[in-house]
Amino acid sequence: MEEREKRQVGEQIDPGGRPKAPGRLELLQRFINTHNHDFPPDWDRIGTPEKARAWLREKRLIAAGDRVPDADAARLRELREAIRGLLTSGEAAAVLRANAAPLIVAIDDAGRTTLEPAAIGIDGAVATLLGILHEAQLTGDWSRMKACRHCEYAFFDRSKNRSAAWCAMSICGNRTKNRAYYRRRRGE
Ligand SMILES: [Zn+2]
Repeated sequence: MEEREKRQVGEQIDPGGRPKAPGRLELLQRFINTHNHDFPPDWDRIGTPEKARAWLREKRLIAAGDRVPDADAARLRELREAIRGLLTSGEAAAVLRANAAPLIVAIDDAGRTTLEPAAIGIDGAVATLLGILHEAQLTGDWSRMKACRHCEYAFFDRSKNRSAAWCAMSICGNRTKNRAYYRRRRGE
């Protein structure tokens, strides 16, 4: 894969051409994948306050005038790694609790309910993302979200027996297999 393509992984490109997560869960997937641990740190799409602001604006998670100071960008990255931690069985719950933001039950004219952020700005963005996490746990879709065993990229496992372990067999899977193969050959 060329660098130009690699830089699109997580947004325009999903490794292995995997279908993205369904519904609003796609937004949470994109959030986790604003950084791929396999890529250089400065490729992080929310790595600086400016980049974080641009990403949040593009996803309509904040309004035009909202500012994203350093601390908020850092909070987002902490939240991202904690949500990823839910997929890698890292220790995530305490960090998520510390970063939580309030949601309200909104009711439209037809009586349909949705969870909406109770605040604006970064708190609103965090609330929206955690609301999606909550919805995905209710529908069961969250149980199909996985983190690649190698690069920790978040992908949606549509396989029948939910057995997928790598973002794309052709990238991470083969690399992992090759390494095991060479280790065996070297007698490690
Ligand atoms: Zn991977």
